[in-house]
Formats: sequence, structure tokens, C-alpha cells
Amino acid sequence: MPDQHLPGAELHLLDDAPMNGDGGARVIWHITWDKNATAAAPADLVPFDNLVGYFTGSGSGEAPHLIWNPFTGRIAQLFSATSRSKSVINAPGGVETNRKGDICIQIETLFFPYCRVDGHVYATVADTPCVGLDRIMAWLRSWGVPDVWPMGPPDWNSHRDAHIWDTQPGHYGHSQIPENDHTDPGPMPALFTPHIQEDDMPSAQEVAVAVALEPVLREYDAQGHPLPDRTASLSDYLGGLQLANGRIEATLAKLQAALTAQAAAIQSLAAQLGQIHGVDTATVVAAVQQAIRDAVVDVDVTVHDLPKGS
Ligand SMILES: [Zn+2]
Repeated sequence: MPDQHLPGAELHLLDDAPMNGDGGARVIWHITWDKNATAAAPADLVPFDNLVGYFTGSGSGEAPHLIWNPFTGRIAQLFSATSRSKSVINAPGGVETNRKGDICIQIETLFFPYCRVDGHVYATVADTPCVGLDRIMAWLRSWGVPDVWPMGPPDWNSHRDAHIWDTQPGHYGHSQIPENDHTDPGPMPALFTPHIQEDDMPSAQEVAVAVALEPVLREYDAQGHPLPDRTASLSDYLGGLQLANGRIEATLAKLQAALTAQAAAIQSLAAQLGQIHGVDTATVVAAVQQAIRDAVVDVDVTVHDLPKGS
């Protein structure tokens, strides 16, 4: 028998109860959709522990098997694999939903459209680094969930077919479950190939850049930002690097803007000084730049020599 609990998951077990037992292993994907943000007005991601608190407390009546943070790879588990969970509606009559089949594992992804994490904004789960997805997929496969979306990969619209749901195992979105009206989880990453997709696969050059970035990341770590986990799988590690890389790019962009403004200010000051003292602008600029170099040798070099991330 495969493992009832996803290896490494934080366990907060609730009341297990049996499935219908009428065959097939299914998965239902959700997002927590905690806030209604927009591209123009993004909002910070909600803390993972808030969701664990909600689903083990006042929200236990709609609790999933797993709560997954795709930015850090943290996973909490609330029901055993062979238990039903409670995150979809099951109307009287009709088909079974939460209890359908032998296995129906429901996963709440900590996500809402246009959530902001470390200064980056994400429109869909597919855009996130999906840290930990490989571990989840390995566990789902161990329970016999086939690598297929019977209703097709989810989008933001509802596509429901009670007959397909009732007869075909595999992966579904909440937006594809009969008797329900939610439209989550929206676009998901490619689940059935390693989650770094073909065109996102790092080239040799990108790996070299990532390695070259490690000392910079370490410096960043020293300022209190998390480093990717080196003991994670290669794809998780590269996903983490990508996220850290994004944070650094955002910081660099700000630094670059500050330097550009500084250069313009120097140019303008030099022109005024030159007029007063009868010296040409280029000479004053060179003198100021030399003075800055003497004072902060590393700044210009560090910023300009940093490789651009993927
Ligand atoms: Zn849902």
C-alpha cells in the first residue's frame, strides 16, 4: 500500500471517512482565492499558516487533503489518502463528488490571481515556481492517479460533464466538477512532464548564470531573504533559484534607476560648476566619477557586471 501521508507533509489530521469505493483514482485541484486582486491592484499572498488554521478550524467543513504553497513547497495534510475530503459540494442525488471512486485527493493551492510574493505578481498557478509539485505528483501517481485531464487542462471557465467525471479517473479542476459553481484553479502548470516545461528548461548558459549568481544569492540570504533549498530536487532547486533571481532583478532595477538618476544629477551639476569655474563639463564629470569610485569602488562594477537572469 502506498503511503497514506505525503512524505514530508505537515500533518494536521481531521476526521477520516470512507470513499464510495466504486473505482478510479481522481484529483481535484483548487486555489484558495483568498482575495480579489487585479493586475492594477495586486495583493500580498496570505500566510500559509492562516490557511492551515482556517481549514483545521472554522473551515474544516470544506477542508481538502492537502494545502500547498507553490512558492516555498510547504505542504500540510488534513486527511489520509484513502479518506474523502470536503472541498467540493455534493448535491443530493446526482453523482458523488467528494467521495467519488476509490481515491479522490483534493489539493488547495495557496494562490489567488495577482497575488504578490517578494515584489513579483503572479496571474496563474502556472506562473509560480511550483516548488514541491514533483513531490505531490510522485505521491498521486503512487496512488494510481493517471496522468490525464479527462476534461482537458483547466482554464478560468466552467467545463462540467457528470458522465465523464463519473466514469474517468485522472486530474480535474474544481471548475470541472458537477454540482459545483466555482471556477478555480485556473491555468495550471504542465503536471505530466517534469514541472519545468520544455521551453523553460534551463540551457547550459542559464545553469552557468545560476551558479555564478550563487554568491550574490548568498549575500541576499545574509540580508534575510530565503535561499533555495539545495537538498530539493533539481527542478525544485532551479525553481527556487528562479524566484530568488526575480527578487534580485527587482532590486537591481531599483539600483539601476538610482544610478541613472545619480549620473544625470552629476552631469547637471558638472555643467553648472563648469560655467562658474570656466572648466569644461567632461573634466568635472571625470573628477566626480573618480571621487565616487574612490569612495564606493564596488557599486558600479557589481551592478553592471551582474548577469541577467532567466
Ligand atoms: Zn475550489
